Amino acid sequence: KGKLYICGTPIGNLADSSQRLISTLKKVDLIACEDTRRSQKLLNHFSIEKKMLSYHEHNEETRSKELIEYLQSAKDIALLSDAGMPAISDPGQILIKAAVAAGIEVIPIPGPSAFLAALVVSGLDISAFVFRAFIPRSGKERAEFIEELSLESKTTVFYESPYRLKDTLKDLKEFSSELAAREAVVARELSKVHEEKYYGTTAELYSRLKDQEIKGEIVLVIAGRQEIKEESEGWEELSVLEHLKLLM
Ligand code: SAM
Repeated sequence: KGKLYICGTPIGNLADSSQRLISTLKKVDLIACEDTRRSQKLLNHFSIEKKMLSYHEHNEETRSKELIEYLQSAKDIALLSDAGMPAISDPGQILIKAAVAAGIEVIPIPGPSAFLAALVVSGLDISAFVFRAFIPRSGKERAEFIEELSLESKTTVFYESPYRLKDTLKDLKEFSSELAAREAVVARELSKVHEEKYYGTTAELYSRLKDQEIKGEIVLVIAGRQEIKEESEGWEELSVLEHLKLLM
């Protein structure tokens, strides 16, 4: 049987292509990718000529079957998405699951991922975090997302479009004073020439960005809810002597 390589590709800076990515693309028999024209640019940059096949959200099911047959015939495949790691808010899961079920070895070629790059520069507690893909655009789902975020104690990271960023910051700061006061980071165009990071509370970020034209690709990171200090906590602050005095 062939092997299926899940390849991370640059999120905007070709220099982030690992040696292992390049050698894998050179050695596989076929490259399955979201948009063949887009991935062709990456291949051209490294002078790689390889057979390509599209694998995107509209043909994932049917293409997975074809690709599994291909893998069964001892051919290796590299799966790429337009940018970053496949299967992270991108196609991949259906093929990967089918490959695992068929006993085909699935090998990660780790590379950039926008959410991880944003998390590590956030300066927030990321000892545990929640990845939420994209924030829903509207309606009940959006309201539920924001409500869940308001209760979430872990740092949350999600993708947002530049056109909706201001509305999102506005909705967050208006949901509650607690959410308005949460530390957050807007990470824009990571690894590209115009990379920018904005740090502040959601309310501060809204005031800062509301009159600016926002372009490019965005990741939002929001700190978790702080534990609400309980009344009893004051007791621990007291010295033994003070405790005794209070008890007398
Ligand atoms: N699979 C990708 C990954 O691992 O990063 C994510 C795919 S998702 C469909 C694309 C979203 O990622 C964009 O809409 C944007 O929110 C975010 N993104 C991608 N590249 C980025 C970059 N260079 N800077 C900031 N955000 C980026």
